[in-house]
Amino acid sequence: MTFDLHGRTRRLELADQGLRSFEAVVLEATPDGIVLDRSAFYPGGGGQPPDQGVLLWQGVETRIEGVRKGDDLYLVPAADDPIPPAGTVVRAAVADERRSALMRTHSGLHVLCGVVFRDYGALVTGGNMEPMTARMDFNLPEVPPGFKEAVEEACNAEIAADRRIDVRVLPRAEAFAIPDIIRTATNLVPEDIPEVRIIDIVGLDTQADGGTHVASTKQIGRIKVAKIESKGRGFRRLRIAISD
Ligand SMILES: [Zn+2]
Repeated sequence: MTFDLHGRTRRLELADQGLRSFEAVVLEATPDGIVLDRSAFYPGGGGQPPDQGVLLWQGVETRIEGVRKGDDLYLVPAADDPIPPAGTVVRAAVADERRSALMRTHSGLHVLCGVVFRDYGALVTGGNMEPMTARMDFNLPEVPPGFKEAVEEACNAEIAADRRIDVRVLPRAEAFAIPDIIRTATNLVPEDIPEVRIIDIVGLDTQADGGTHVASTKQIGRIKVAKIESKGRGFRRLRIAISD
């Protein structure tokens, strides 16, 4: 098994996060899901929701409303859209505006995560995102005065520094030799994965991560820390908004 294979589908978006259109062959198709031999649709995971888009084949369009992960990756077609039979060559397009917004948002969350870990030593306990808005939960017993403003300012300073965001794939042992590589409070990388994909915001934050990211922090835009909620003992939820 390699990091970019899910069932029978080669995941093109992991190595090429800018890819928005590609050709593929349909391996299996039902109204519940279409399996391609290769796909750039992000299937969801790590708080980043699945991509949407379209398949074009023989003058016909099949809208894709999401992706379901099972033994294979199943592209979920819109109800009542025609389904390309197995063996069909399709031209696929990932909805660019949504995906690009999610990449900015996901990278923004890593900046937040890096800043809160560096300045307050707090680990992440959960998170979720929609295009341009997100929340992240931290294990942080005390909220110091001015925390919200200080975090927002530090995040935007890291964005202004335009740090490179690199993707690397390393053998498991080598990846886990990097200090603080697992930034979540629990280790979410399954035992049987021999290679680990790393997202490195150079000089700020290095994490094991399967999501899609922009190439440098300036592409995120601006981060606003909209709200901090206390959800019980040491459990703080930060809500952020991304803008240009
Ligand atoms: Zn992530």
